[in-house]
Amino acid sequence: MKKDYQSWQTATKVAQGLGAYDTATNGVVPAIHTATTYYRDADNQYRSGRVYSRDNNPTYLPAENLLAELEQGERALLFASGMAAAVAVFQSLPSGAHVITPKVMYWALRKWLVEDAPRFGLTVSFVDMTQLEEVKAAIQPELTRLIWIESPANPMWQVTDIKAVVQEVAAHNITVAVDSTVATPIHCKPLVLGADMVMHSATKYLNGHSDVIAGALVTREQTSLWEAIVKHRKQAGAVLSPFDAAQLLRGMRTLAIRVERSSANAHELAQRLSKHEWIREVLYPGLPSFAGHETAKSQWQDGFTGMLSIRVKGNERLAIGIAANTEIWRRATSLGSVESLIEHRASIEGVGTPVPDDLLRLSVGIEDVNDLYQDLCTAFETAARSTS
Ligand code: PLP
Repeated sequence: MKKDYQSWQTATKVAQGLGAYDTATNGVVPAIHTATTYYRDADNQYRSGRVYSRDNNPTYLPAENLLAELEQGERALLFASGMAAAVAVFQSLPSGAHVITPKVMYWALRKWLVEDAPRFGLTVSFVDMTQLEEVKAAIQPELTRLIWIESPANPMWQVTDIKAVVQEVAAHNITVAVDSTVATPIHCKPLVLGADMVMHSATKYLNGHSDVIAGALVTREQTSLWEAIVKHRKQAGAVLSPFDAAQLLRGMRTLAIRVERSSANAHELAQRLSKHEWIREVLYPGLPSFAGHETAKSQWQDGFTGMLSIRVKGNERLAIGIAANTEIWRRATSLGSVESLIEHRASIEGVGTPVPDDLLRLSVGIEDVNDLYQDLCTAFETAARSTS
């Protein structure tokens, strides 16, 4: 059953999972392959091409193919987590390489870059990725091998002009990789904008149900760095369980509709909250007043993501008090799921975080937007009464 999926629209590609099915039984969903090892031929060969499932597992393929198609890349690889996927990129660079990364980015990766990357012979420059001059000034032509973009960047949602960064490094031998976890392939396709690689914490929107930890990389073409990453997954072994890979594919089949609803809810909330008496600032790329709005408008499609942050008129106590008083918004870390989450981000990032202590990060789910708004308003009133 050959499918002409390249002509399909995104919503059709995801809902159909590119038409993958169980070829052994004709079951309409692909099978889960649990075998860790494979028969060797009697003459000691492995003609099937399969030896051991740390090398690869056929359960990964439908999700990897779907993601490669959505990002318009040549290949995708699943990993045991988003961190495992990101670290595989950095650890596959030659020792002594210099990398440029954003000042504000997913905090655990920033921590790894500060504390652990030097042990692998890497040097790191942290720059404001929205300022092209800073990126340009940080390039060391003989040493810089990677520019790592996170757009929008968690949790202040700075938007990077991916095209401009790609143009800036065109004369150098530098890979441009983008953590596109929050944008998802529904809103932004970094490879189409010229980047070389895309990374996702598939734990977030791709799976979308707070029940799988997974990561993914997609490459525009199979370069020597990509080959090193494939080898890294095999040998360092940060592989996903086949059950999680199947669960991830199931989550991805509703990606288009979930992201559409989360982003529409977030946009509506950002507009309403900007007028709220207890809020000093709403950080959301969909608001015309937001610094990265024009870049997002020109490089993204169909909305501005389901993530926003609010800075409250008050201190840390008020912010934490608001999170303590919501009923629908769940007080938990993570993002990109069907249920809405609220988090006082500075508390989890700890000492040295660039995140202000009056900031609450909101991961907007697919619930009714009026319920979400009302729940926040009630929590503001309750927290304000108890802190005044
Ligand atoms: N990148 C971003 C933007 C994230 O928000 C996260 C996790 O929160 C990660 C990467 C790491 O992903 P994981 O938790 O799947 O390791």
